[in-house]
Amino acid sequence: MRLPQFFFSSIRFKIFILYVIALSLTLTFFNLLIYWNHKEVLEHKIDLLLDARVQTVESAVLTYWKAEAKAAKSGGNWFADLFGGAQKKPGPEDPYDTVIRYLTYDDLLSPAHDNLRIFIDVFNVDGNLVDSSHSNRGFKVLDKAILHRVLQGQKVLYAFALPSEKGRVPGRALAKLLVRDGRASQIVQARVPMKPIRAELRELLVKLFARSAAVIVLASWGSFFLVKRTLSPVDQMTRMIRNIKPDNLDKRIQVPATADEIARLAETFNEMLMRLEKSFLSQRQIIQDVSHELKTPLTIVRGQIEVTLKKKRSAAEYEETLQSALEEVVKLRRIVDNLLLLAKFDNLGLLLEMKTLDLNVLLEDILQDIRLLGQEKSLRVSFVAGEPARVDGNEVYLERLFRNLLENAVKYNSEGGSIRVVSETEADTVKVTIEDTGVGIPPQEREKIFDRFYRIDRARASGDGFGLGLSIAKSVVDAHKGRIEVQSTPGSGTAFFVWLPVGRAHHFLSTH
Ligand code: ADP
Repeated sequence: MRLPQFFFSSIRFKIFILYVIALSLTLTFFNLLIYWNHKEVLEHKIDLLLDARVQTVESAVLTYWKAEAKAAKSGGNWFADLFGGAQKKPGPEDPYDTVIRYLTYDDLLSPAHDNLRIFIDVFNVDGNLVDSSHSNRGFKVLDKAILHRVLQGQKVLYAFALPSEKGRVPGRALAKLLVRDGRASQIVQARVPMKPIRAELRELLVKLFARSAAVIVLASWGSFFLVKRTLSPVDQMTRMIRNIKPDNLDKRIQVPATADEIARLAETFNEMLMRLEKSFLSQRQIIQDVSHELKTPLTIVRGQIEVTLKKKRSAAEYEETLQSALEEVVKLRRIVDNLLLLAKFDNLGLLLEMKTLDLNVLLEDILQDIRLLGQEKSLRVSFVAGEPARVDGNEVYLERLFRNLLENAVKYNSEGGSIRVVSETEADTVKVTIEDTGVGIPPQEREKIFDRFYRIDRARASGDGFGLGLSIAKSVVDAHKGRIEVQSTPGSGTAFFVWLPVGRAHHFLSTH
């Protein structure tokens, strides 16, 4: 199997490597723990063994001395007394020899370690070897420091290393002073070469690591496939995403049925696609609408100019053409201004210059114009102003917002109808209601009227609408962190509600 270059930088590979490292470290740690623990237990056991052996020798020697003293007094056979009638009698030159050999028979060795030999050495009080249970080639003299401590009456446990042809041979020993009639007499030492123990420990370590290696290989193999399976939806998603182009934004990627992070990623991606598609469609729609809106006045102007230029005209005719061309140009200018305004909001809607202002004053100002405008339809305009409605806002844009709403309330009102404006403070917000008695808005249209260039029925709107008024109103409200809603009964009227956060300065005064 040839692995692609990508494999080594893939998450799959990284997780795999991390897993192997973590597992190896953990197993190594536990192996060492087991090793140290076992080593300690073994050494402790050996120490106990040495101690027991020294004690045995000591009590035997003491018994021997006692028997010897008794025999000296009575003239009997102390050896036969002590060993139950054994015939051999030790020579006078090595009085401990038999005792020591008797006590260090191989069957007295530790049954758990049949290859572990315990040696007994006897030193005189100068630290020189007097006797030994086995041929003792290396251990002739007791170390000075140890001798010193032994002579003080301590039981000294220590590790040593004897030189040999194969390097130094490690061992452990326990030495103790024997006292006879109140005088330091001999030193008994039990000693074990540690080679077999070391070999046993080494074997344990090798076994532990060999088994761990097998576990690591098996577990890593398993983890590799597990990770591969877990991440395979990601590969699948990548392939699907790669196939999504601007012309098929309606495609959605398949969400794995796992309810995990990857499923959430897929869902989020689909949501993003949906938003993108919506925005793409609305961009396209906007371009179509803009072209359409700009085309109509331009066609009119062009037609008028062409007709006028066909022959010589009177000054009055030229003036009339220019006048109507000017009207169309003004209309064009308004569309372009509004579009620019919306584009600005899209870019820096939140960077408006804000100041605290009283909405009641602002509304009263706008209503003066609206009253004039409403006279054409004989509209009654009323304003119920609550307590000073202070908000933090941009005066120019807020005026635009309410002017758009109020102009619509005139535009879509019926002859002799009315407009009612109410401002009131609700907790942390100022609520402005603009109610009219006009044609109303069908329920299915209520969501869409805030979209750019959306007009319910072009025929019913008077000629000067572009479908931008409410989308501007919504952008202004959003930039002020407010909210806009509409309620309407088709045929009898519409109410727009705008909530804006109370100005901070005012808020401070009213709550403290
Ligand atoms: P327009 O320039 O067409 O007025 P708007 O964005 O201001 O554009 O409004 C969008 C549509 O919402 C309008 O075409 C109109 O049909 C509907 N509309 C807005 N305000 C009212 C209202 N007060 N009464 C009835 N319909 C309204």
